[in-house]
Amino acid sequence: MKLYSTQRKSEDVNFEEAVFKGLPPDNGLYLPSVLPLLPLDFWHSLESKSFQEMAFLYANELLKDEIPENILKEIVYETLSFEIPIIETEENMYVMELFQGPSLAFKDFGARFMARIMSYFLSISKKEINILVATSGDTGGAVAMGFFNSPGIKVTILYPSGKVSNLQEKQLTTLGANIHALEVNGTFDDCQKLVKEAFLDAELNSKMNLSSANSINIARLIPQAFYYLYAYSILKSENIPLVFSVPSGNFGNIGAGLIAKKMGLPIDKFIASTNANNIVPQYLKTGIFNPRPSVRTISNAMDVGNPSNFARIHDLYSGNLEEVRKDVVGYWFDDIQTEKAMQDVYEKVDYLMCPHTAVAYLGLKKYQEECKEKSTGVFLGTAHPAKFMHEMPSNLSNKVIIPDSLANIALKPKTSTKINAEFADLKNYLFKN
Ligand SMILES: *Cc1c(COP(=O)(O)O)cnc(C)c1O
Repeated sequence: MKLYSTQRKSEDVNFEEAVFKGLPPDNGLYLPSVLPLLPLDFWHSLESKSFQEMAFLYANELLKDEIPENILKEIVYETLSFEIPIIETEENMYVMELFQGPSLAFKDFGARFMARIMSYFLSISKKEINILVATSGDTGGAVAMGFFNSPGIKVTILYPSGKVSNLQEKQLTTLGANIHALEVNGTFDDCQKLVKEAFLDAELNSKMNLSSANSINIARLIPQAFYYLYAYSILKSENIPLVFSVPSGNFGNIGAGLIAKKMGLPIDKFIASTNANNIVPQYLKTGIFNPRPSVRTISNAMDVGNPSNFARIHDLYSGNLEEVRKDVVGYWFDDIQTEKAMQDVYEKVDYLMCPHTAVAYLGLKKYQEECKEKSTGVFLGTAHPAKFMHEMPSNLSNKVIIPDSLANIALKPKTSTKINAEFADLKNYLFKN
């Protein structure tokens, strides 16, 4: 598989290079030069397969020249060994729970797969890398847990002191081994700036192999298509269209689904559901992509003012708005609507949703109300409600049952190193460790 940059100003690379570079030097994003169009027989044949088997078959179509089949199979089977419940909440509405992995958020799919892919390449090249990542909360836990004990990889996670929830902090600071947490006396933006400076620092880069675990990495994107295949294999029906509502921030999750659709997966529509950070729904309406500083909402893992995967989606459709509109519908909802949805669904069907999942629910509901044609709708549940209890109305958060894994982490002592938001401090730390 060759990958090109959406900016088209840097050279094509192979998969291994794209994984370790993360971003092309021209600041575009990597996309496969050729997306194989798979016949209907392939998609129909998934019906009789397990989730892991179909995930492997799909990944193998993209990666067969990059990773030996037996190894890819092992990676898929080991990284994706958790349940994906699909639950009917109302007639023609299903929630697909993508949060049964170790960090209780859908980012486990991407982070775990990427960690194993990197370790595989490093075992062959006999290299070691240092991963630097800045987190405002949710990504950090998935990365820490995904890369925990990965051979050849040291991970340093920077997070803003006092600005992530207690449970999120514990997910980063209690693992030990190859996972190091740096508690930065500053904001999330400071953390991101420090990481950026590190990648540009010649001395640091001459002494260590730095890499990122950014959400735009192609190895995080590929596994985020697997569950669309799975839902399709279970819910498809001859003449009722299948639609997905995806709670979106950086648009990686929906982007992965659109790639699968380009490869032939018979899905009728994707609903891009956002909070007040409605850059993409506005683009779909007006044709103008107008990034803005993000605003704070209760679905804060989607507080993104410049969705980085938009460049991929734009390129998949050759920048043709009409073509994008055929496949993607966009809606946005404010916090009041989101809270009301959490309350309503709990009262009606006794189901608790995190705020992100509630935004997806609202998007699907609105689509099915506006669209005359009957459809089977799936909204993606991206985080366990226990991870966002502080963002939920108290009558609901009182009802949340905290999973044992999270309860146990809360009891463990945290280990972090405090630094100031100064690049010299970060550099010093990296050299010493
Ligand atoms: C990251 C995240 C999202 C948004 O996913 P994107 O791929 O960035 O669009 C939604 N919900 C939760 C819980 C997340 O952590």
